[in-house]
Amino acid sequence: MTDYITLLKSNDLKATIQRTSILKVIEEVGHISIDDIYESVKEQHPTLSLATIYKNIILMQQHNVIIEVPMNGEKSKYELKKNDHIHLICQSCGMIQDQHLTAQTEQTLVLENFKLNRVQINLYGLCSECQS
Ligand SMILES: [Zn+2]
Ligand SMILES: [Zn+2]
Repeated sequence: MTDYITLLKSNDLKATIQRTSILKVIEEVGHISIDDIYESVKEQHPTLSLATIYKNIILMQQHNVIIEVPMNGEKSKYELKKNDHIHLICQSCGMIQDQHLTAQTEQTLVLENFKLNRVQINLYGLCSECQS
């Protein structure tokens, strides 16, 4: 498991209990919406408000600790900052799987007159379980 205290400090953020609890929930689930983070963190920290969660999520996003995954017509999900990857999203059960980019995939993304900084691609379909 990630050392959240070091992760926060190395990104110039104070390691508060709120932030480490939020990061723990995000890592456990993988990709999660703010509402679900709130539901989960509330169990251990009942005094924590949704506004506080929002504030911390936005701050950690600005400091590159977590990234937002925009979802098609749904609330965004958040994940810990990882290398660029593709998301395989199941339209039936909502499962999100990380698919890391191979050198080959990255080559096909070379775009003329456009400097690529970050890759985030969502592919929608059916996971292996929902196909059967
Ligand atoms: Zn599925
Ligand atoms: Zn991901």
